[in-house]
Amino acid sequence: MIAPEFDYDAVCRDMPEARVMRGEAYAAKGWVDLVEVSPSGVLAHVTGERGIAYVVEVSARNASDARCTCPDFADGGLRCKHVVATVFTVLDTDDAGLEAAAGRLSRLADLLEMEGRDDGPDLVDRARRDPALLRELEGEEVG
Ligand SMILES: [Zn+2]
Repeated sequence: MIAPEFDYDAVCRDMPEARVMRGEAYAAKGWVDLVEVSPSGVLAHVTGERGIAYVVEVSARNASDARCTCPDFADGGLRCKHVVATVFTVLDTDDAGLEAAAGRLSRLADLLEMEGRDDGPDLVDRARRDPALLRELEGEEVG
C-alpha cells in the first residue's frame, strides 16, 4: 500500500493556531483511531473531549476535501481540530501501522464471515461510520 500523501501545511492553512494545536494534542493523546487508510485518503474515528467519537474523512488529493461529524464542522463547514488530528496521526504513523489500518475492515469482514454471519458486509459498512459498533464488533474478536 502507498500511504496517502497529505500536505499538512495545506490542511492547517487559514486555521486559527489554537485549533491546530488542539488537533495535535488529540493526536498525541492517541484519540485518533484510524479505520480506513488508502492512497486516496483516510477515514478515522476521533474521540472528543466529551467522549463522543466523530467520524472524520480526509482526501489526500485535496486538503479542503475533508468532512467531520462534529458540531464545529456542521456549523461552519470549516476544517476542525479532528481533521488536523487525523492528518497529523497519519503522518506520524509508521508503515506497519498504516498497513494495519489499511487492512482493518477487510480483516473484520473475514472474521464475521468465519463466524457465519451473513450480515457481515452490511455490518462492516455500518461500522465504518459507527465508532461504537466498530468497537463492539472488534471486541468479539478478542472474546
Ligand atoms: Zn470535527
